[in-house]
Amino acid sequence: MHDMDNKGLLIVLSGPSGAGKGTICSAYLKRNPGALLSVSMTTRKPRPGEKEGVNYYFTDKQSFEKMVKENKFLEYAEVYGNYYGTPREYVEEKIASGFDVLLEIDIQGALQVKDKYPDGVFIFIIPPSMDELKRRIIKRGTESAEAIYTRFQSAYHELTYLSQYSYVVVNDTVDEAVRRLEAIVLAEKCRVARNKGLYLGL
Ligand code: 5GP
Repeated sequence: MHDMDNKGLLIVLSGPSGAGKGTICSAYLKRNPGALLSVSMTTRKPRPGEKEGVNYYFTDKQSFEKMVKENKFLEYAEVYGNYYGTPREYVEEKIASGFDVLLEIDIQGALQVKDKYPDGVFIFIIPPSMDELKRRIIKRGTESAEAIYTRFQSAYHELTYLSQYSYVVVNDTVDEAVRRLEAIVLAEKCRVARNKGLYLGL
């Protein structure tokens, strides 16, 4: 079969803090063993319970900037005063070997990926309402009052970027949101443009 058919999808998920990207991602990954999460690198300090190599690779500003110079990131951005970046090699290798790779990244990063990989699938996750978003950010309890305010305020700004994405998933319940995500991925895999070599095998 044609090469194109064996390549995995690059799936980019963005959305405001508290929209539930992380929860949806883990639920999706549990149900879809053909998909992997790209673990980002960050200069942010670990939150209680976060594990090196699981949630993030934690590093310092100097090492991060060195990796930027060495072109080690597929994209990177500064978010709330810290650097976050997607390790390039992991993503490229896994996609080439047929895995779908999920990136849970902010809008600035997603736009960089869109430039380099227009073939990617760009999905925006939104909460059912702004009240619910505020409730979720507060409930998480990992941020200071000031950080909660900043995150909530930027959620409004972030929503204006919705039109840059191809799909929107409302996270009302995790099950429904994952079902929507699965439907998107399945439909994307059926696109003629991704199956150009198919007729060769008929
Ligand atoms: P948090 O500090 O809450 O884990 O993440 C803050 C924001 O950074 C979230 O919107 C998250 O999606 C984004 N983020 C996490 N990893 C990356 C990354 O590798 N690149 C970019 N551009 N954003 C990221």
